[in-house]
Amino acid sequence: MGEFELINHYFASAACAQGGEGVVLGIGDDCALLSLPPGEQLAVSTDTLVAGVHFPDACDPGLLGQRSLAVAASDLAAMGATAIGFTLALTLPEVGPAWLQAYANGLSRMAHRCRMSLVGGDTTRGPLSITITVFGRVPAGQALRRSGARPGDVLCVGGPLGNAAGALPLVLGQRQAPAEQAEPLLNHYWAPMPQLTLGQWLRGSATAALDISDGLLADCGHIAKASGVALQVNLAQVPVSPALQAFLGHDAALQAALTGGDDYVLAFTLPPEALAPLASLGFIEVHVIGRVLEGQGVTLLDRDGQDITPVQRGYQHFRETP
Ligand code: ADP
Ligand code: MG
Repeated sequence: MGEFELINHYFASAACAQGGEGVVLGIGDDCALLSLPPGEQLAVSTDTLVAGVHFPDACDPGLLGQRSLAVAASDLAAMGATAIGFTLALTLPEVGPAWLQAYANGLSRMAHRCRMSLVGGDTTRGPLSITITVFGRVPAGQALRRSGARPGDVLCVGGPLGNAAGALPLVLGQRQAPAEQAEPLLNHYWAPMPQLTLGQWLRGSATAALDISDGLLADCGHIAKASGVALQVNLAQVPVSPALQAFLGHDAALQAALTGGDDYVLAFTLPPEALAPLASLGFIEVHVIGRVLEGQGVTLLDRDGQDITPVQRGYQHFRETP
């Protein structure tokens, strides 16, 4: 099968490539054309997943399809954007029809959940690697940035943390767990649901936001730095799922929640008075985990208010020079 046949058969005909709101022209020409309503800005983000680095070489292609789009779309959620479309740059060692069909199906499932369309891409031969660029729209000037946190704000997260990090030994086949523990964790790893609705609601109330991809403490550091403030995290308030707690035990579950990657849950700051409306809208998974103070950096406090900030805060592909 040639390159163009492959594109047509698996991608141009995929359910997720059949157009959608904001898509003027999809796959087939030199560029896709997207339209924005008046007064809105285009939000753009790219993520690459490399086999053997971001996912095991041998994994379910359908799950990979879901996950590869979810991690990219999560950045739109973090900006408070509404998803429009995405492009897929796929590098493949060979053309495996079953693999491609399952991958495209998984991609379509997640695209449907995020209400976004596949509008173009690139297909090349080489070691398996997936780059997805997402496009969203946001009213001009209202995107959620990392830089607006103010002393007095509370620090929140959009749901339990650490599930994906907890799932990793299961994904890699290093450990096994009973279904009631394994399923929620694996589900969070393979299909983290981008918090697009929460992000959109937070426009106009959150002062800073991001999606947690490298670990809570590491990512909170980005808000602290960009905003020129200090963030205080209370260990007792960090939410952990029952499945994670049962699988890893209390201490290791908290460790995964604080420093494990791949959560794709939003972390955000907002004035305390904005909390009640959030709860009344049904965002029941939102937890207050700390507060914003004058100063800099992130500190972790135990139940007694003792500073227990760990040295290792999250995952980085390239370590910082000391
Ligand atoms: P060009 O040579 O002009 O860059 P290509 O031949 O690479 O275009 O691609 C032809 C069309 O197919 C383009 O519209 C491109 O966006 C689309 N396309 C290529 N690969 C993919 C893919 N993996 N998924 C979706 N669309 C793709
Ligand atoms: Mg061209």
